Amino acid sequence: MTDVPKPRKGPLKVKNNGFLSIFPLGTGGAFSKKLYQNNYLLIKGDEHLLIDCGARTPQAFFELGFPITGVENFLITHSHADHVGGLEEVALMGRYMTKRRPSMVITPQYERILWTNSLKGGAAYNERRNNKLLAFDDFFVPIYPQPSTRLDRQGWSLQFRGFDLFMFRTMHIPDSTPSWKQSAYSIGLVVDNRFFFTGDTRFDPTLVDEVMGSFPIEVAFHDVQFFPGGVHASFDEISTLPGDFKKITYLMHYPDTYENQESKVLQAGFRGFVQQHSYYDFTKP
Ligand SMILES: [Zn+2]
Ligand SMILES: [Zn+2]
Repeated sequence: MTDVPKPRKGPLKVKNNGFLSIFPLGTGGAFSKKLYQNNYLLIKGDEHLLIDCGARTPQAFFELGFPITGVENFLITHSHADHVGGLEEVALMGRYMTKRRPSMVITPQYERILWTNSLKGGAAYNERRNNKLLAFDDFFVPIYPQPSTRLDRQGWSLQFRGFDLFMFRTMHIPDSTPSWKQSAYSIGLVVDNRFFFTGDTRFDPTLVDEVMGSFPIEVAFHDVQFFPGGVHASFDEISTLPGDFKKITYLMHYPDTYENQESKVLQAGFRGFVQQHSYYDFTKP
């Protein structure tokens, strides 16, 4: 078995020696106050890609000595504020301060949702051009992935700046839906065929089964909550997943009180909690 990446502390740098590295800007759940939100910077060589940009993410970057305006590439998993709440700042700072349009890897389907339901209110009305409001592509350069049937659910793939991205639908909200099909748009990712990122999802053993059967995954980050019901996978549910999966899996999107759960998590066979502001490096190509 290949080595599972372990957390390594270090100052934030958006370039590295060329191997994939994952840097959590935050690892907390939607309402955590001691942790930042569950957003991840992927770094590889001279390139980077930010997965999600929550309301507190620009602050997290600031604390780490890097301006959010320096982030060139975004990918958004879904529209909860802990994943999109920082994007208006990115959009307005880009258009009016740095005069730059960052790229966003996004499906046409989600571009409409993200713009109309979240960003338009704060972004579209700042200018009138030929009597028209501003639009999504006045702020971001959309990069569209190709539909992919690699899993038995809606998915897309894209080679982007050295990252091999596979995006798949998840079953997050509402809590009553039997599958991803009836759920609101939310996605997870497989990066470079080796990093499995569930995004926000309820317990979905079929997803774990399919991804682990289709990709040579070396490490997984799975969301967790420590109570039953709700819109995330509960600890009791994911504890029933196969041992081979749990031993390469770190838990993310957890509450401020996570330390009380640490021994339970290790006992269940998981690798532990993802640590924010640490690098998870792949050391082999
Ligand atoms: Zn969330
Ligand atoms: Zn969510």
